[in-house]
Amino acid sequence: MPAPSTTLRDIVDRRVREADPHLVAPLDRNRIRCFACGHQCPIAEGQPGVCKVRFNRGGKLYVPWGYVAGVQCDPIEKKPFFHAWPGTLAYSFGMLGCDLHCAYCQNWVTSQALRDPSAISPPLDADPEALVSDARAQGAQVVVSTYNEPLITAEWAVEVFRQARGAGLSTGFVSNGNGTPQVLEFLRPWIDLYKVDLKSFDDRHYRQLGGRLQPILDTIRALHQMGIWLEIVTLLIPGFNDSDDELRRLTEFVASVSSDIPWHVTAFHPDYKMADRGWTPARSLIRAAEIGQAEGLHFVYAGNIPGRTGSLENTYCPTCRALLIERIGFQVRANRVGPDGTCPECRSRIPGVWS
Ligand code: SF4
Repeated sequence: MPAPSTTLRDIVDRRVREADPHLVAPLDRNRIRCFACGHQCPIAEGQPGVCKVRFNRGGKLYVPWGYVAGVQCDPIEKKPFFHAWPGTLAYSFGMLGCDLHCAYCQNWVTSQALRDPSAISPPLDADPEALVSDARAQGAQVVVSTYNEPLITAEWAVEVFRQARGAGLSTGFVSNGNGTPQVLEFLRPWIDLYKVDLKSFDDRHYRQLGGRLQPILDTIRALHQMGIWLEIVTLLIPGFNDSDDELRRLTEFVASVSSDIPWHVTAFHPDYKMADRGWTPARSLIRAAEIGQAEGLHFVYAGNIPGRTGSLENTYCPTCRALLIERIGFQVRANRVGPDGTCPECRSRIPGVWS
């Protein structure tokens, strides 16, 4: 049931606990530094960080705890994860706030709740055991922290993941990837899947969104090195990040980390403060996908406009080109990947988590 508080500021003031010691360091004059995201804010006494949800009180860092702003159970393909237990359900939960402020955010009601007075999203008191029990009751195989930026609420996510693992479920993040070495080490023991939203390959674009490109690239490399299953999504926005040159550099980077990382290029629709352009046309998604394939990526997918991008919703064996997984939208129509993760035709190992 809705929490009794009346303002969102009440939420961040009351529903908190102290940060994990790995995610904070003392500075001079009662200031502290937060390591939960790539901003690495130095925070003065009585002030919040850029995300508005982690704050310094008495020289201690307080972080969100004990609530959710939304939960939902969906096909795992919606996250999207295409190489992790296809056709299963993912139970998603989110809190409030974000370290970026993208004008086109599709989750702005929760992500911008502490910045934008028109984003009204009342919290629900929650405890990890009840969330996991709800996830199991709904038949989910994976519990995913999403909707707001999960890095800034990493302590709560880990507490939920601890319960989820104990109940035999797997765990994942749907994140902007603005991480730090500290937060990735903190998450590492508890996380199976990580989706990074690589929004652009131009630092000037990232600065318009409130971030920087380099921490996202560092996070992608680190996640791959850690062996956490990683998929990357780029929302293709007409006139923002859809030039051939930018897409070439972006996919060249992903392929330099590993050509086996699935790359999803998805269609923008007008949302929040970006209403000055229309949906991404199917032909732009297909063009972007062809650039990714030319740069050597083995698994490129087009999303958000089911049935209009030819074979780009399916998975094919990169060795023998056999059709392995047939999809339309979030629905898996056929899955021929063996339980051991191999192609049934040529026995090549298909990267992902299958069994
Ligand atoms: S999570 Fe990021 S934005 Fe928030 S206080 Fe920590 S470093 Fe700053």
